[in-house]
Amino acid sequence: MVPIMAQSNVQELDRLIEPLYTALNSVKVLRSSVGQVFDTLGNGLRGDHGEEGKDNKFLLELQELLSTVNVNFREVEQAVNSLTPPPGPFSLGNTTFLSQESTQERQALYPQLVNSYKWTDKVHEYSNLAFALLSQNQLKRSYVIASSGKRRRNVQSSHNVLPQAVDTLIAGIDRQFADMNLTVSRPFGSNAVMQVTLGRIMKALVAFKGLMIEWVVVKGYTETLDLWTESRYKVFQKVTENAHAAMLHFHSPNLLEISVRSFMTWFHSYSTLFSDPCKRCGNHLHNALPPTWRDLRALEPYHEECKP
Ligand SMILES: [Zn+2]
Repeated sequence: MVPIMAQSNVQELDRLIEPLYTALNSVKVLRSSVGQVFDTLGNGLRGDHGEEGKDNKFLLELQELLSTVNVNFREVEQAVNSLTPPPGPFSLGNTTFLSQESTQERQALYPQLVNSYKWTDKVHEYSNLAFALLSQNQLKRSYVIASSGKRRRNVQSSHNVLPQAVDTLIAGIDRQFADMNLTVSRPFGSNAVMQVTLGRIMKALVAFKGLMIEWVVVKGYTETLDLWTESRYKVFQKVTENAHAAMLHFHSPNLLEISVRSFMTWFHSYSTLFSDPCKRCGNHLHNALPPTWRDLRALEPYHEECKP
């Protein structure tokens, strides 16, 4: 295996390669403008030069092309002058041996390797930033390790509920609403994933951790459900967004059953998503969307723009 090339080396290479690309590009531009001169010269007088003063027109055209060549040539000179010769050989670690590869396919590995190094560096950098940000995040609901032992016990117990307790709760909610169908599966072990079908309006997946709602995805009635992709319809993307807000709003670490019931009652209010007008403006559509927001207490429908 090739050891990771030092990051400073990659950056150093980058610094040298950038002006090299610029210089090569300006050479390309120069070649093309010189090519144009010869092209015009080779074609000689053309029909579009007309009859009157055609020689003069031709000469003017050539003159213009030559001055472009001059400008491009100056650009090449400038670009070449700004190049700095590398200070010495780079220590590329074992990657140097790649140059001894005789098969064409493998010679192309080097740029790929450099790219993957850059990529890993970025992943490293971003994950460090993400870690710093997330460790300050006070909204974190899972695995709260508070300094007081009492709080910790409460929170932990909420995750360690028996699967039967979750099933009973969901079955209870299922019976409560005739037009909402709930089914439970456990694709990830003990934690439940609930599939919700609301009339012929929409479907949703609700992922639980114990009795706590961890994730919600809402999609159209005809779409296929999975936890990782959003709906292709704007209206259900909006409902998903609002469901995330509602899931946080209704969450209460000590009253988890009530949290789930409240959330599902709120969710059920979307059964009139396409039939109820907005409470504020009285219209059905606004910006081509129905009222996708539901008031968290009275469950009244509003457009995103009409929210109280
Ligand atoms: Zn409205």
